[in-house]
Amino acid sequence: MARLRAGISGIAAIAATLIFSVSAQAETMPPAPPAAANCQNTGSFERWLADFRKEALAQGISRQTVSRVLDDMTLDQSIISRDRKQSFFSQTFTAFSGRLISGGRIKNGQARLKQHAELFARVEKEYGVPGPVIAAFWALESDFGAGMGDLSVLRSLATLAYDCRRGEMFRKEFMAALRIIDRGDLQPSEMIGSWAGELGQTQFLPTHYFTYAVDFDGDGKRNLLKSVPDVIGSTGAFIKSLGWRAGEPWLEEVRVPQNLQWDQADLAIQHPRSKWADWGVKTISGQPLKKDDLPASLLLPMGRFGPAFLAYPNFQIYPKWNQSLNYCITAAHLATRLDGAPAYNKGSQPIEELTYEQGKELQRLLVKRGFFNGEVDGKIGAGTRAAVKAAQMKLGMAADSYPTPELLERLGGRATPRARADKD
Ligand code: CA
Repeated sequence: MARLRAGISGIAAIAATLIFSVSAQAETMPPAPPAAANCQNTGSFERWLADFRKEALAQGISRQTVSRVLDDMTLDQSIISRDRKQSFFSQTFTAFSGRLISGGRIKNGQARLKQHAELFARVEKEYGVPGPVIAAFWALESDFGAGMGDLSVLRSLATLAYDCRRGEMFRKEFMAALRIIDRGDLQPSEMIGSWAGELGQTQFLPTHYFTYAVDFDGDGKRNLLKSVPDVIGSTGAFIKSLGWRAGEPWLEEVRVPQNLQWDQADLAIQHPRSKWADWGVKTISGQPLKKDDLPASLLLPMGRFGPAFLAYPNFQIYPKWNQSLNYCITAAHLATRLDGAPAYNKGSQPIEELTYEQGKELQRLLVKRGFFNGEVDGKIGAGTRAAVKAAQMKLGMAADSYPTPELLERLGGRATPRARADKD
């Protein structure tokens, strides 16, 4: 029970940081600290670099590695511009997952699982993490190594560590990158990747690379760019470190009854699976759910008429990988697809959506009525959904946390023209 309570508060803490909209660039990024997007860089890059050099040597990085990485290092202003660009747009779960879960990724994922079956079995034996869970991240992060980015990760890291917005975090990442070189895992010239400083086929931050990467092919180096055994083994080791529980499910698509206490559908709320069964929740094929005490949260990313999922304790590793709940459900569902589950049911009727402008208007009205004290930015995150739920409860509507044109109207907003979710 103590463990269950700890799990619930952990989920509540994670749920509080989740966002439902993502920027195009940030869709595979880990949680970032609050942005000081308008901070000004004072002091030259050269002076900053000299100071970093001193610190690296003081921390025991070899003179040779420090010299190889820092001697000709220059700032890349375009990285700062990309990092500061706040190009957020609203995107619903069905649109987001439809874009990311392509037939090609499923076919490729199944082929990789078959091709590397022995390797995946070895990783599951060692870390308890099933192959499809690893393969889904591998698909989404780099299409199995085909798209890892083409920039110098070291230059990106140096630039982001110098920049005032997230300097402290990236200073640690840059130092970890030097340690990876010092340990002999990678050569500086091999460290090609994303503008955000992530490395390898499952896009590890350097601190995670240094701590969790394992040499699974036994050549003495941890190479997450070129060695498939190292990629699969290290990703399994990392997922285990995030709290994976061997032998348990992570996400299951379900059927919900017409009447349910909709305010219980919330990642921050868990009930035993038997309780959901008592309330009429069934497996997707219409069978009764297993009547056991496994804690589960009901997720309705498109509201009560859309797809429905039970998220089990193992689902908690996903928000630690990426803070976008759309990404989390997409990655977890893709893993079930690779494990043999069918595509999720899009719902019994077309689901109405708010446009970006309507989302902002809804937020303004929620602020005015005292339901919301967050930023009016059109991003429908965990805070907005909690405010939507509070407003729905107050107005006697089904409290499924999903913002609809009807709610906008009830709050006094203009709900037309109505946008409809793409059924494809
Ligand atoms: Ca290796």
